[in-house]
Amino acid sequence: MSKKKKILLFSILIMMILFLTACNNQSELKKVEDNAFLMDTLVKVRAHGNGAEKAVKESIDQIEAIENLMSKTVTKSDVYKLNHNPKKEIIIAPETMVVLKKAKKYANLTAGDFDPTLGALVNLWGIGTKNPTVPQPSAIEKALKNTGYQYLDLNEESAKLTQAKVKIDLGGIVKGYAADSVRKIMKKNEVKHAFVNLGGNVLVIGDKVDGSAWKIGIQDPRKGRGSVMAIVAAKDMTIVTSGNYERYFEENGKLYHHIIDPKTGYPAQNNLLSVSIISSSSFDADALSTSIYVMGLKKGMKFIETIDEVEAMFITKELDVYLSSGLKELVEIKNKDFNLIEGEYFAN
Ligand code: AMP
Ligand code: MG
Repeated sequence: MSKKKKILLFSILIMMILFLTACNNQSELKKVEDNAFLMDTLVKVRAHGNGAEKAVKESIDQIEAIENLMSKTVTKSDVYKLNHNPKKEIIIAPETMVVLKKAKKYANLTAGDFDPTLGALVNLWGIGTKNPTVPQPSAIEKALKNTGYQYLDLNEESAKLTQAKVKIDLGGIVKGYAADSVRKIMKKNEVKHAFVNLGGNVLVIGDKVDGSAWKIGIQDPRKGRGSVMAIVAAKDMTIVTSGNYERYFEENGKLYHHIIDPKTGYPAQNNLLSVSIISSSSFDADALSTSIYVMGLKKGMKFIETIDEVEAMFITKELDVYLSSGLKELVEIKNKDFNLIEGEYFAN
């Protein structure tokens, strides 16, 4: 064998060894996963790498801590204290303040389509509880009078509900806040690849261990958890879905779901099965998914197109799929029952 050939073979050998070592290191990245039932939903946290174990534990603890501050049923929570001490200035934790401020911001931005003070209406309907009910119109009228973000006063360290019987409900935003908190924990622990799912609020950190994009499934809204109708390729991104299939009950052939229009007091009535928001902030995406569901397709699409770097996917009852302009290349529809509506929507 010539000297040249020997050098070439030797180089190839070295490269192969380097390549195999690299692959081996990738697959050897430690994977840690944990599940818990928190915030009334199934929480899944997965992380890869040296800091994974600590990060996953801290994440689950943090989600629990957030629940203990912001749940309306935990008697020691800030929200419980506010709801049960109307007209009193209540000192609250900085974390709760961040969520209340963001919730009020979205209430203003959506002119009340999103409203964190609709607890009286949510309690009246009881959707997701053992005894949901279609309330009497007079009861809805009453609860509507006890709903309104103008009744929520926020100061530096304290908050106050200025009218008795107004109740805070952060169910439309708190999971997004929790998902973003998990991202911070992962970063602190130098975790480069992670996946979080809080009952439909999905957040991915970095890309997958093998360097490819995560593939996030969008649920088939007719079937609920576990069935995927489309896939979105994502890196450092969140997908948050609000849908009428998540919590609902049926009475006399009519479906009543958990996303309430704070202007009518009834579950938002439109032809949407679900709205998914894709963005880098889960906190904002969560507030937006609920808001946009209330707005419906036309108003919601127009609203989303005014916000930079936030995209939306709408699925209607006819199984038509509408994508905001930045999303067209990222979504792959997997189920042929769904029709992608192409072109420009709602130009005027
Ligand atoms: P999501 O699944 O994020 O859309 O949140 C739905 C939850 O948010 C409901 O179960 C209620 O607790 C709460 N909610 C319902 N309607 C609204 C609304 N219009 N604005 C704010 N929160 C709402
Ligand atoms: Mg939401």
